[in-house]
Order: sequence, then C-alpha cells, then structure tokens
Amino acid sequence: MNNQELWSRALSEIELSVSRANFATWFKDTHIIEHNEGIVTVGVPNGFSKEWLENKYHKFILKSIRGLIPEVRSISYNIITPSDRGAGDSQQINQRNKPKKDFIMQAEEQMEFKEFSIDPRTNLNPKYTFDSFIVGSFNELAHAAALAVTKNLGRVYNPLFLYGGVGLGKTHLLQAVGNSVIKENKNKKVIYITSEKFSNELVSSLQNNTVQNFKEKYREYDLLIVDDVQFFSGKEKTQQEFFYTFNTLFDAGKQVVFSSDRSPKSIPDIEDRLRSRLEAGVIIDISEPEYETRLAILKSKAAERKIDLSEPSLELIASMAQKNIRELEGALNTIQIQSKYQDKVLSLEEIKAILSKNTKPKSTITPTQIIKTIAEFYDIPEKSIFERTRKTEIVKPRQIAMYLIREDLKGSYPYIGQKFGGMDHTTAIHAYEKISCDIKRDSGLEDEIKAIREKYQRQK
Ligand code: ADP
Ligand code: MG
Repeated sequence: MNNQELWSRALSEIELSVSRANFATWFKDTHIIEHNEGIVTVGVPNGFSKEWLENKYHKFILKSIRGLIPEVRSISYNIITPSDRGAGDSQQINQRNKPKKDFIMQAEEQMEFKEFSIDPRTNLNPKYTFDSFIVGSFNELAHAAALAVTKNLGRVYNPLFLYGGVGLGKTHLLQAVGNSVIKENKNKKVIYITSEKFSNELVSSLQNNTVQNFKEKYREYDLLIVDDVQFFSGKEKTQQEFFYTFNTLFDAGKQVVFSSDRSPKSIPDIEDRLRSRLEAGVIIDISEPEYETRLAILKSKAAERKIDLSEPSLELIASMAQKNIRELEGALNTIQIQSKYQDKVLSLEEIKAILSKNTKPKSTITPTQIIKTIAEFYDIPEKSIFERTRKTEIVKPRQIAMYLIREDLKGSYPYIGQKFGGMDHTTAIHAYEKISCDIKRDSGLEDEIKAIREKYQRQK
C-alpha cells in the first residue's frame, strides 16, 4: 500500500466519526508525506489544521492507520505551505497542489468557523454589523442608505438594491441591516436568504406539497433580505413566486433589501415585471476601494485581531491586495498564520514573498501619479488641475484625470469628486462619460490618452 492509498483508506474511516463540516475543514489538503519505520508523517496546509489534528483527531487518525498497518507506532504532523508543495520532491504533494488562492480562502473560513455561529431563525451571522463595517468613498452611499433603512423600516428606500463586484461588502452590509433591526427590536421578524436558497426551498416545497407553508412563511416578515438576486436569472417559477411574495410584503409596508453583482438592468432573463420591482426603490453601487481606503480597512482589521504590523508592512499589503476586501482579509490572515507559526514578526521581504505567491502582480499606480503625469503631459502646473476653473486648457486634463482614475484604478465617483477639490460625484460621472464618448470620435484624444497611460505605466 503506498502512502496515497493508506491515507485515503484511513480518511474514509475517519470521515465516519467526524462531522462533515469538521472533516471538510480540518482534513482538506492533508496527505501522508512519509511512512518510515513505524512513523507516519502527515502533511497539513497550515498551523490550524496541525493544532486540530494533533489535539482533537490524533486518536482517530492513529487508530485508523493502525487498523491498516498495525506496526505504525506514532504519527507526526508537518505544515506544508503552498510554496513547499510547489517545490515538490514528492509526486503526491504536487498532485495535491491546489490553486494557491485556496490557501487564503481556507484560512479565512477557519477563522470564521472558530468565531461565529449563524442564528437559525434569521440566517444572520452576528459578525456582520455596522460597527465592524468600514466606510470609505467607495461604499459610503450604500452604507448611508443601509443605515437609513434600519431607522425607517419600510418607509424609505424600499426596496433597497445594492450592487457591486465580489468581496466588496454587500453581504456584510445586508446582514448588518438585519442584525441592527433585530438588536433594536427583538419582535421584528427578519430573514436573510440568498436567491439560490429561496429557489431551492421553493422547489422542495413544490415536491413536498408544502407550497402553502412556504408562501405563508415569507409573507410574515417585517424585513426580507435577499442576497445575490442575479441568481434569479432564468428561474421562471422562482421569479413568479418571488414576485408575489415581494408584492405582498411591499403592499403591507414591509421592507425588502436586495444585493446583486450587477444592476437590475444587466441581469439577464428576468421577467420585466420583477425587474421593475427590483428597480422600484433606490439602486446604489459599491465600487472598488482605492488605496487609502484599503489601507484604512487593513489597519482597522489588524487592530481588531491584534496583529502587530509596521506601517510599511501594512502599506505593502494594501498595495498588493487590490481587488476587494475579501482579498485584503485573506492576505492579512495568511500573514497572521505565517507569523504565528514562524513565531516572529515577518519582514517586508517575507511578506512580499508570501503575498506574491497568492496574488498576481498588479500595478501600483496611485491617483497622485496619474495626475502628475497628466500635468506634465499637458505642461500645466499640477495644482491647476484642482482649481475650479472652466478654462479649456485645464478642464480637458482634469476630465482625463477623472476618466483614468475611474478606468484604471476603479475609483468611485464620489471619491473622484472629492479628490478634485470636493466636487460633486455628478461632475465626475460627467467627466468620465464625456471622455469615454470623445475618445470614440477623436483619434487625436485617443492617442493622447494612450501616451499618458504609457508614461505612467513606465513609472510604476
Ligand atoms: P460580497 O458579498 O460583496 O461578495 P462580503 O460582504 O462577503 O462581500 O465581504 C467580503 C469580506 O470583506 C467579509 O469578510 C466582510 O466582512 C469584509 N468586508 C467587506 N466590506 C467591508 C467593510 N467596508 N468593512 C469591513 N469589512 C468589510
Ligand atoms: Mg455576498
């Protein structure tokens, strides 16, 4: 029996004595590294798994392995990080070399697993609160609207529709609304559900002839929160049922809150009448956080978890983890785990090495660099870009700056407005739309923007 066979047979036995969630959490990505003179070494992906296997599951593991090879005397557990696995002296290790992202996600899941439990009455996770939600220009409108909803349930912003890319805090904000309403008034009936779960429940109620119960259940709530409504797409029966549920609640003055990864207009295969309901209240997008906000979020999360990181380390993480907040948290968790198990504060170089394994190299351009490059290109003083003037020689570079910050750095409109001397976000939208439109007609402008981009790409 080779190591792989041995481990998979042992696991199939262990699986019977451990809950499914625990099994998936703690035995994922484990394997036997070697078996030598009665000593078996098990490779585990991180320190948490090591701790749990050693303290909680060691007896099961030893028993099941001895059942297969009686002469095994002891078992030890070694952490095999993704980099060790990549180095790969053993084939088995390489085979198990999962995409690197997994490592981050797993660490994150384990942290959550440890700390919080979901309330079965509401499906809410108590960790998602307004207190732990950090506000920056990219999400401030969404935050303000969510907060207003809790204070005026069913009376303003009904329905509230939040949309934006993954990991930007939609679920957090939606659940914060629910948690806050419950906290204020225990008698309020609140339910959080994903559109997929709603659909699954409906399907099984159809199969079990319990549709009537299903309908009644959803029509009793004071606050219905539906996450990820883009998954209603193409599900006709679900849409139909949801439409009636929504109408009943809405007519009774009850609050409904939605999230989606795109605007109602962009969700394909949705009946018009449902789309118009989704659009009936307030629609707000959450954009990607810019560097300063990422840094602020990181600082607050590091403080919350008592992770000691120097300012340069935090800056490095904020500039490397760019996509969304989930990625930032993942990076922080990875650093925390590594530093805990190496039992030291990691150096900048070490952090860089760890994170570059998990993130693709991305640009580290800042809005300030973009503005500086544009000022040089058009030969105007940098600060004139911030002046409130209508002179064409200033207005054009300013609009291009706004356009590029939106296009290349995914800056939110309110942020861009603020950055340019406290202008309104409509000014930023107007600038972005004007340049997007002019580029198509004016190849001279297109060339200028290309040249500017090349210039700051070279600088980074
Ligand atoms: P989405 O639903 O948009 O994909 P989530 O709400 O699941 O994103 O957020 C991903 C992770 O980032 C969660 O752990 C969440 O707590 C955290 N997060 C997102 N936005 C914020 C924020 N503004 N402040 C603090 N944590 C946040
Ligand atoms: Mg979500």
